[in-house]
Parts: sequence; structure tokens; C-alpha cells
Amino acid sequence: MSCSTPLVDAFNRRISYLRLSVTDRCDLRCSYCMPEQMQFLPRKDVLSLEELHKLALAFIDRGVTKIRLTGGEPLVRRDVIELVRAIGRKLGDGLEELTLTTNGTQLEKFAEDLAGAGVRRINVSLDTMDGALFEELSRRDRLNDVLRGIAAAREAGLKVKLNTVALKGLNEEEIPFLVEWAHANGHEITLIEVMPLGEVDGERIDHYLPLTAVKDVLDARWMLTPSDHRSGGPARYFDIAETGGRIGLITPLTNNFCAGCNRVRVTATGQLYACLGGAEQVDLRAALRSDAPDANVAAALDEAMRIKPERHHFQIERGAAPAQPRHMSLTGG
Ligand code: SAM
Ligand code: SF4
Repeated sequence: MSCSTPLVDAFNRRISYLRLSVTDRCDLRCSYCMPEQMQFLPRKDVLSLEELHKLALAFIDRGVTKIRLTGGEPLVRRDVIELVRAIGRKLGDGLEELTLTTNGTQLEKFAEDLAGAGVRRINVSLDTMDGALFEELSRRDRLNDVLRGIAAAREAGLKVKLNTVALKGLNEEEIPFLVEWAHANGHEITLIEVMPLGEVDGERIDHYLPLTAVKDVLDARWMLTPSDHRSGGPARYFDIAETGGRIGLITPLTNNFCAGCNRVRVTATGQLYACLGGAEQVDLRAALRSDAPDANVAAALDEAMRIKPERHHFQIERGAAPAQPRHMSLTGG
């Protein structure tokens, strides 16, 4: 496949990874992600599956080799599997990996279709194995659906990585158990610091748990050795001798990782955000719906490379407004 000009930003970072949100809607209401009465976008503002597919092709043409579908909850978008299949046809023809991040509630239904479309690995978010805490955190009683979904994914041959947001006073004590469970069941697990994105009902700082503190606890319990493993994302990895598994740490607050950034995010309405923590954006929906979509999408991608900032400036402070008003459910994880 011939590739047009690759996407390289002003800091000489090659952009090879797209996180594409297919919906901002979700069947959970995780309290660190969104308020209970979340206002979702009007459906007319959201890109059609055809438009999302066109965008994916435009990115692949510019040298993007990895696409992660996300949301909101990607598996609640009607007919999303058609999009997965359509993008999956580019695997081996420019695209090296197609994956998704899901909360797992619908996975039992979709695992085989995902595998059939060429997906090999997925990330499933799981913050607790305690049913009552799951319901408190996500405001929905769905833990068993998620666990069945993870089992179905494994049976379909998908590699499942777990993503766990570390939350002080909530799942803090359970983290070593989650790590043990993950490794005993053949999953990698990545811990994430909560980020100040979008208003939620409480104060995020009340549950902000720096991963430096979590790592101290894990170090006291097990032998953690830094690993050379890289996933193309921002995590740093450690091997744990006793469990025989690997753990990733995503530390946007305690350890900035922007120098190696290789990705951009596109919302379900086609706004390309050049940085998760910044406001810099270009409007791909306007470009797609213009008279000269190909030229205008290409020009918008060039503009995105010009404006991508060097780094984010997250801070988490009591009483302060979020770093960005948009929720993580808009840009996806
Ligand atoms: N609904 C899917 C899920 O939960 O996996 C995909 C979208 S969700 C926004 C992606 C990831 O972002 C999840 O792992 C979630 O835990 C994480 N997340 C959501 N809000 C966050 C926040 N404010 N700080 C850190 N991680 C967050
Ligand atoms: Fe939904 Fe994912 Fe946000 Fe939870 S973290 S509310 S599952 S989008």
C-alpha cells in the first residue's frame, strides 16, 4: 500500500496510533468518569458508521498502524461490529492492529464476532471484583456480566488486558488481589491514575491515589522488575516474579510520559483532540461533510500535527475546575 505523507508533529513525533470513539454513550456511569445525570450528545451530531470508517481509512493512509475503538462504551453503538469488520479488512494492508477498550458488559455477545473481524487483543476495564463496590462505583449492578464477558473473550481467543483505575478508599486495598486474579487467569493488568477530565458529582481528589504509593505497597509484597515491554501506549511495565505476570502503570500525574506520544484521539462527533489533556482540536466532521472531503480531511490532519502540544499540564487540586471540561467518555481511553 502506498502511504501519503506520514503524520509527524512539530516535535518530530510520528503519529501511528488512533483512538477512535464511536459513541459517547455508556451503559455504566462510573463515578470518576461522569456524573449520574450525564448529558449525552444528540445523535445527529455523531458520525455515521460510514463516516467513522472513512476517517479510519484516511488515518491508515497517513501511516496510522494501530486503531483502538473506544467511547463511551463502544459495544453499545448499534451495528458497531459492521465498523469493526470494515476496518478489520485493512489488517495486513497498512493496519497492523485493531483493538478496543470496553467495560465488558456486552462482551459475552460480541467476543466471537470481534475475534472473527481480526481483533486479537482487547482492554477491559475492571476496577473491582466486589459486586457491591462495582455497583457503587459504576452505579449499575453489572459485575457478573463483565466477568462472563471476560470469560467469553478468552474462549474466543482474545487476549484480555485489564485496566484498573486506582481509587483511594475504594479499590485501594483490593489492588493486590486484582493483580493476583488477573495473573492467575492469564491477563496483564494496567493501573491508571484518575485524571481531572470533566465535572463529576464528587471531588475526584478525594479518591485520587498516586501510583507511586501503590507501587510501594506492591514492592513490599512482591519482587517487581522493570520490563522493556512496550505496548505503544503510555504505560511503564514491571514483571512480578511471584505471580509470573506483568503489570503496567499509567501515571499522567506523577510521571509525565508525553515525550514518547504517538497518538491522537477522535471523538464520536469527529473532533480530533491532539492531546488528551489539551484543548487543541480540529473538526474532521466539517472536513468530511465538505465539498472536497479528501483534501479537507488531509488538510485538517496536517493542521492537527501543527497544533499538537508538547505535553499536557494535568494537576489535580481540591476545588479546582477539571483540566478540561470534556469527560473521558467523549475522547475515550
Ligand atoms: N467504556 C469503556 C471502558 O470503560 O473501558 C471505554 C471508555 S472509558 C472512558 C476508557 C478508560 O478510561 C476506562 O478504563 C476508564 O476506567 C478510564 N477513565 C474514565 N474516566 C477516567 C478518569 N477521569 N481518569 C482516569 N481514567 C478514566
Ligand atoms: Fe462508561 Fe467507561 Fe466511563 Fe465507565 S469509564 S462510565 S464504562 S465510559
